[in-house]
Amino acid sequence: MSRVVLGIDLGTTNSLAAVYREGKPTVVADPKTGSRVCPSVLQTAEDGRLVVGEEAKAARVERARDTLYSFKRFMGRGAADVEAQSKDVSYAVFAGADGVPRMRLGARAVSAPEASSLVLKELKRRAEAALGVPVEHAVVTVPAYFDDAARQATRDAATLAGLEALRIINEPTAACVAYGLGKKEDGVFAVYDFGGGTFDVSVLKVTDGVYRVLSTAGDVRLGGDDVDDALAKVFLREAAVRGEVSPRLFEAARTEAERVKTALSAAESATARVVVPEHGVRYERVVRRAELEALAGPFVDRTIKLVRRALKDADVSAADVSAVVLVGGSTRMPIVRRAVEKEFGKPGRLDLDPDEVVALGAA
Ligand code: AMP
Repeated sequence: MSRVVLGIDLGTTNSLAAVYREGKPTVVADPKTGSRVCPSVLQTAEDGRLVVGEEAKAARVERARDTLYSFKRFMGRGAADVEAQSKDVSYAVFAGADGVPRMRLGARAVSAPEASSLVLKELKRRAEAALGVPVEHAVVTVPAYFDDAARQATRDAATLAGLEALRIINEPTAACVAYGLGKKEDGVFAVYDFGGGTFDVSVLKVTDGVYRVLSTAGDVRLGGDDVDDALAKVFLREAAVRGEVSPRLFEAARTEAERVKTALSAAESATARVVVPEHGVRYERVVRRAELEALAGPFVDRTIKLVRRALKDADVSAADVSAVVLVGGSTRMPIVRRAVEKEFGKPGRLDLDPDEVVALGAA
């Protein structure tokens, strides 16, 4: 049998792998649970066991100090970045003797490449279980703005996981490849990537099948999570929660906000329920899509400002862009789709799942 190469989207929030088989790429699901994405979350359980993925994400509030997430932001960074990058994470980060940032994970201190390698190892394990063959090669995607150090850190993470990274490719390039853009004709394309915690937009030019990123703009602190937080605050205000909001209560409100937000991408209204008896909270109300859009609007506006900056930096106009690819779960929000269509004068492409398109392109 020919060798298997995994296409891996190593994401800040979620990671996934796809494989090219029988003439097309397919996402590899965990044969045990059927899940297609693996949350990029690590944890040490009470008994010291290392937990990766869904289970770690589920217990991240109770085990906040023993849970690592968003560690992708430390890839290729040095001691000087520790303070700025660790402001809004709940785990301890410090500079190691070698100047590389280290994160506390139970009794261990791990670097970002080590943390990433644990996610890659989990994807490798799931793929081997699903495919029934050993997997030793991968194409791993990185944000277009990653510098050489961050790309090397990604390569190192793959090596630590027992995977040889045949290529490190840009996420927006993978998204265009998944859609076959530039395969038959040259053109300028835009990739609008709105995830849970980050936003990126890239403008690419394809000439004779060669992809070049002309510009990229983004905000590493702008994502669907902001919409969840805004809606959760409305719930807590209306539930008349006084005094300090415990992490447990805020998490309950935020989890419900995300559920309602997601439902409102398909429905015009949805019922929110936040019930936390130990805090005396029993809250229920109907949320209309228009209300959610009023909260989401300012965040979407910020993404459009960044789109304009990327177009300007690439020295192209919206009309020069022949296709816009939508990536990331937050592009499922109708308000986002409308804003993108208005800005580019054409609807974004979404025949492929926006959460899977990068991995599919890598495969
Ligand atoms: P990603 O980082 O690409 O995995 O995207 C995750 C973000 O997409 C989270 O903020 C999710 O709440 C959001 N998301 C996922 N599905 C939907 C949906 N149907 N409607 C709105 N947001 C969604």
